[in-house]
Amino acid sequence: MSNAFIPDFKAPAQRTGKALWVVFEANRILIRMEAGVPQLFCSHHPNDHALEVSQEHYLGTYQEQHCFAAELAPDQNLPDAHAMLGLRDFLGHVNETMAGICGRAYQILEWERNHQFCGKCGQPTQLRDNERARTCVPCKRTSYPPVAPAIMILIHDGRKLLLAKKFGWGNTRYSALAGFVEPGETLETTVIRETREEVGVEIKNIRYFGSQPWPFPNNLMVAFTAEYAGGVVTPDGVEIEEAAFFDVDELPNLPPGISISRRMINQVAEELRKLPRP
Ligand SMILES: [Zn+2]
Repeated sequence: MSNAFIPDFKAPAQRTGKALWVVFEANRILIRMEAGVPQLFCSHHPNDHALEVSQEHYLGTYQEQHCFAAELAPDQNLPDAHAMLGLRDFLGHVNETMAGICGRAYQILEWERNHQFCGKCGQPTQLRDNERARTCVPCKRTSYPPVAPAIMILIHDGRKLLLAKKFGWGNTRYSALAGFVEPGETLETTVIRETREEVGVEIKNIRYFGSQPWPFPNNLMVAFTAEYAGGVVTPDGVEIEEAAFFDVDELPNLPPGISISRRMINQVAEELRKLPRP
């Protein structure tokens, strides 16, 4: 049996057995608890459980099981042992592949909701049958589910990591710097610009770390590490409240484990701990 997720946009004409349904109501997902662990709704179709859904989208197969995204109609009675759980919470319980499927479902539904009408001429759009896209018949403008790239940068200097705390009510977490890619930029120039803007320092030896789809609402987070090259750490006072170098053995409150920022901080800190103390 294949463990992979194989994406597709067209449901098979005939299918048997149960499918996995990523059913959303706003940003909450329909789950059933199994031994304390939330699982996706599993059924041939939600109608079989007297659940009305709208905006049904085929996603592909996962472990050879068909997957769909759907939006729950208002005021539905959930089947026994089922509940709605926030997407963020659900992602904390599942593997990377499943997180990707749920993020994909969320973003496709969001795109579908927001692209019913052409952004250029205002006429209704139609779903295409040869790809996942919506086209305006009068002016031919086509839209695809958007993905907005963002960067994350973890700066290190000897055994220290540069971590920043964003403004936000009650926020006590320090993390790597992050920001959106602007039109015309390479990822490297975004990394340099964001570092200068947010904390006023220069960096060198920028290296790719990894990436993570982040469906809040439609980002692809591309993470890098870099060495500190100069300048005084100066929080911008707009987005960043505090920023400082922390010794790897005295790290502050960090982001939760599901984010690539935490994975990168853990991995880089592990490497830096091997360096001799000054
Ligand atoms: Zn149009």
